Parts: sequence; structure tokens; C-alpha cells
Amino acid sequence: LDPEAFAGDSHAVVEFLAEYYRDVDKFPVRAADLEPGRLRKLLPNSAPEHGEPLEEVLEDVRRDILPGLTHWQSPSFFAYFPMNASAAGFAGEMLSVGLNVVPFLWAASPAAAELETVVVDWMGKLLGLPSRLLFSGGGGGVLQGSTCEAVVCTLTAARDRALAKLGHEAILKLVVYASDQTHATFQKGARIVGIPPSNFRVIPTSAASGYGLPAGAVRVAVERDAAAGFVPLYLCATVGTTGLGAVDPVRELGEVARRHGMWLHVDAAYAGSAAVCPEFREYLQDGAELADSVSMNPHKWFLTNNDCCCLWVASTAALTSALSTDPEYLKNVGTTTTGNKPAAIDYKDWQISLSRRFRAIKLWVVLRRYGAAGLRAHIRRHVTAAKWFERAVAADERFEVVVPRKFSLVCFRLRPSRLAGNDAMNDAVNRELLTAVNGTGRAFMTHFVVDGKFVIRLAIGGAMTDMQHVMDVWDLLQGKADEVLQRYQL
Ligand code: PLP
Repeated sequence: LDPEAFAGDSHAVVEFLAEYYRDVDKFPVRAADLEPGRLRKLLPNSAPEHGEPLEEVLEDVRRDILPGLTHWQSPSFFAYFPMNASAAGFAGEMLSVGLNVVPFLWAASPAAAELETVVVDWMGKLLGLPSRLLFSGGGGGVLQGSTCEAVVCTLTAARDRALAKLGHEAILKLVVYASDQTHATFQKGARIVGIPPSNFRVIPTSAASGYGLPAGAVRVAVERDAAAGFVPLYLCATVGTTGLGAVDPVRELGEVARRHGMWLHVDAAYAGSAAVCPEFREYLQDGAELADSVSMNPHKWFLTNNDCCCLWVASTAALTSALSTDPEYLKNVGTTTTGNKPAAIDYKDWQISLSRRFRAIKLWVVLRRYGAAGLRAHIRRHVTAAKWFERAVAADERFEVVVPRKFSLVCFRLRPSRLAGNDAMNDAVNRELLTAVNGTGRAFMTHFVVDGKFVIRLAIGGAMTDMQHVMDVWDLLQGKADEVLQRYQL
């Protein structure tokens, strides 16, 4: 690596990206050309024999790659859950990839490992987590790449804790519990750790519980399983579900989990960020002291570039005894103990892979550059826009809000009175509306299906998204609704 060439190329990329961000709202938000195989046709069949100038590469990015991207950083991206980027997140990411250290062992990069312990404690305190999940209170945290990894790691810890008592054959008896709104990553994780698919209990939710997981139904399922000789293992509660933004009652679920010796995990991938504001803290905080683990993704709504998932556990030993490896070539100060605590953290024992990224520096830069006040303002700006949009939808008699909004996700649909009772036609009308809006390239939203109803989701959270973008998408929706309703003569 030649430092001068490195500086020149890096400046060119930063300039390229600055121009991209200046113009990002001019691209069609969703990739305009959805024909599979388009890029393969544009690119040569094999890698070049000789290196090429960066300018040519960037020119190809501009010409061939950008038109095939969905622009997640567009201020009119309202699909899935947004993936945040920010100047501070980018600066932190540059430091992370620029230094390119690998803090799998404490000794492999002591300051990187220690910064991670500091940053996860800072985050836990900002979100109001109980001290038993923080290093300062006897627990601890780690930065992983995704919630999926966090779920696999905690399921592994719960499984091994149970099997240590029951013997390996008992794996066929282990049962996991979640709701029909829990993210699909949970079932994937359970499959990966060997839970038989017939032992996944998917508890139905309903409008009556705001699509939260009813603790009473979990209790009944758990008692039935225990009476039939199964072993209730793990309960996944969600604060801010993916489809509807629903919140499970963590305290009540935690009480059921405690009574039956189950591991309680709280997945706050999206809405965990909102807990930086006192007015949203209760959702995550109430009952969190009963959780064995909590995770959230700063890369969703906390101005932190992808990827970054915080996972906190109450028993670090449960995690490390399931995930540690101890080959001779990795022995170092972390492997020695003072009392029954390791002298230092070897983060390889807190995750799946050995190699890992220096994510802590990214999150640290974000926390220092915005401060808690800046992060609260970011969350509140989006929630205010979501409230405005929810009110606008509710005031238009052609539309309905499908579930009351809790954070910055609004779930709504067209419901013209002449379609009352005709659900199939109503779904067709809403599908057409969503296709028409996305087809303009001026906004991108995705859908969900609840109680058999097709619902449109407006997920506000992009770092460049302001009230004006939300007002614009509402104008666009109203115009397209007129067209669709006319076509159906409604
Ligand atoms: N859990 C919830 C509630 C989510 O909303 C998501 C993604 O949107 C996930 C889990 C999956 O997160 P990841 O992609 O980090 O595995």
C-alpha cells in the first residue's frame, strides 16, 4: 500500500460519493431496470490482466452500476427498514476499514477490543438498559454484523446451557417460542442450531393485542409442552416488529420465561434506536431486567453505516462457553483468568467467526459526533413526520391506518367504502397503488400482509429524509390513488 496513492484514490472516492449524495434524490429510488442479468451483459467475462486507473473504474460505477442500484440513501426510500448512513458513520467506517485491524483476541488489538466494551456500555446506558446487561453491571456486549448472527449466538448459548444439564439427546425435546410477527431470522436461527422445525411454536397475534405476542398464549403453550415432556428453551420478544412495528409485552413474557427457565431474547433491531428518547424508552426498558439478551441494529436507525448490531447478554459465561475455541496459537492474556473472569475480552468467543471488523470505532465516532442530543433529534424528526403522515391518511376517507403507529412506521391502505366486504378486490387495488407509486421512481415503499389484508408500509428513517419528502410522498400517493380508483370505477 503506497500512502500517496492511497490518499489520492481515497480523495477521488470521497468526491465521487459527495457528488452521489448531492444528486441521490434525482435517481429513481428503486432500481429502474429490473431485468435479471443486465449487468453480466455489460461487463467483460473475466478480470483484467493489468490494473486499470481508478477514474475508469469510477466511470464504470457511474455508467453501469448506479443505474442498477436501488438507492437506499435516497430521502424518498421508505421500504423495508431504512439503512442509515451519515457523515460520522462514514468517517467511522473509514477509520475501521483504513486501520483494518482484527480484534478477535484482546492481544490482537487491545485498544480495539477495549473500545468495543466501552461503546457497548455507552450504548446500553443511552438506551436505558438494565445494568445487568452491561459490563459495568456484570453482563456485557459485543458488536456483530446482524441480528441474525446475534440470534444464532444466543440460541446456541441457550441450547448448550440446557443440554449441559439434560444431555445431548435432549436436543429433540427443545422448544422455541415466538409470534407470527417475529422476524423470519428467528426460525432460520433455530434451524441452524438444530431445533427440530416441529418444535417451533408460532403464537398467533391479533388486532386485539396490537399484534404483540400475548403472554397468556405463550404460558398455555409452554405448560402444554412441559406436560408433554418437551423442554421450553427460548422465547423471542420483539420491540418494533418488521411488518407492523408492533411491540411485545417484554415484562409479561419475561415472567413466563423466568417461571419456566427459558432464555428470553429481546429483538429491537429497528425500534431499539428510539429508546435514546425517554418517551420511547419504556417499550424496551419495561421488563428488560428479565431478559437474558437484547439486540438492536444501529445501522437501521442510529446514523451508523452498515453493518453494526449491538448484542448484550446478562451471562457472558453462557455465551462464551458455547462459542469459545482455545487453540494453542491463539492463547494470550485473555485466556488467563483473574478470579473467575477472563483478564481481557477475546471477542472471537462472543460470535460465530474468528475474524471480525473494528466496528467499535464506527459507533464511537457516531456517538461522539452527534451526541445523545443529536441522536434524539434524528429520531424525533422522523417520528414527527410519521405522525403527520398518519394524521393525513386518517383524514382521507379513502384510506385507513391499519395499526396505530408507535415509532416511524405507518401501515395503511386504501379502503374505499364501495369495497367494504370485497377483500380480494381491495387487495388488488392496493397492490396496484403500490406498483404505481414505486413505478414513478419518486418513492419506494414495500408491503406486508396482516390478517389476510395487503398493507402498504411507509418506513421513515433515512438520514436525508425530512418532512418535505414525506409530504411529497403523500401527494404522490393521493394522485395515484385517484388514478387507480378511477380505473376501478370506485
Ligand atoms: N429483527 C427485526 C425486528 C428486523 O426488523 C430485522 C430486519 O429488518 C431483523 C431482525 C433482521 O436483521 P438482520 O438483517 O440484521 O439480521
